[in-house]
Amino acid sequence: MKVIRSGVLPRTDVRRVFVPTMGALHDGHRALIRAARDIAGSDGEVVVSIFVNPTQFGEGEDFENYPRDLDVDLAVCESEGASIVYAPGVEDVYGGRDDQPVVIDPGPLGRILEGEHRPEHFTGVLTVVAILLNKVSPDVAVFGEKDFQQLVLIRKMCRDLAFDVEIVGVPTVRDHDELALSSRNAYLEPDQRERAGAIPRALAHAQQAAVGGHDATLDAARTVLDSAGLESDYLAIRDPDLGQAPERGSARLLLAVRIGGTRLIDNCVVELVGEGGDGDE
Ligand code: AMP
Repeated sequence: MKVIRSGVLPRTDVRRVFVPTMGALHDGHRALIRAARDIAGSDGEVVVSIFVNPTQFGEGEDFENYPRDLDVDLAVCESEGASIVYAPGVEDVYGGRDDQPVVIDPGPLGRILEGEHRPEHFTGVLTVVAILLNKVSPDVAVFGEKDFQQLVLIRKMCRDLAFDVEIVGVPTVRDHDELALSSRNAYLEPDQRERAGAIPRALAHAQQAAVGGHDATLDAARTVLDSAGLESDYLAIRDPDLGQAPERGSARLLLAVRIGGTRLIDNCVVELVGEGGDGDE
């Protein structure tokens, strides 16, 4: 496995599959690297990037405290069969810009849900993903469904701006109590970690309640979150492309919850059967 700390990866003839991460790698990232390995095949190469991107963190968020341990992350990448780890510094990614840089506007879908609570977040995400795609030149890039709005927006950016790359989504990997794995789970005190178990329970109850339609689905999730004393930034149903929720059929339930100073997000498919609604609360 090669480790590259700066520059641009030279193009090769082999199929290149890319897994962008911010490090602090857990089993969710491992699943992405394994999926990348499958897609690349035995002749292809898997590139994992590790870069904590400052521009996607808002003021007062956890950029400074975000967990970083490159040696542990390199061992994870090696054990999952990565060919190359690309771990640039901030200067390598953003050096050479002036104070009026060109950035990517995520459009209206970047201003709802996460975007409403983290106004510059998706501009930061899409801009760094565009830079990394240009530096790595992959044939395929792999992202987790855990960050569902991010996955939808990256797909949309690549389609709308004609990036020559295929975007593949990987299902969320969950802990023993079904809490989605996240680098931020490490911030939780034991009692907070226990209460966080209400998040996947809320999703499961909502999935069951979806036979009763949109409002019943949201009510079921809200009841579980309330009983655990969890405050949500948003709890919403959208269509699979994040448009208005359909009255019936496949939709996505998305939520963000605060536990102390930690913010956790999750989402799941819901199959709506009953009455329609306006999509948000
Ligand atoms: P991050 O390092 O948090 O920026 O995440 C890097 C990639 O891993 C993103 O595509 C995330 O959606 C994905 N990811 C994070 N957590 C999980 C998880 N629990 N299951 C699957 N993918 C995940």
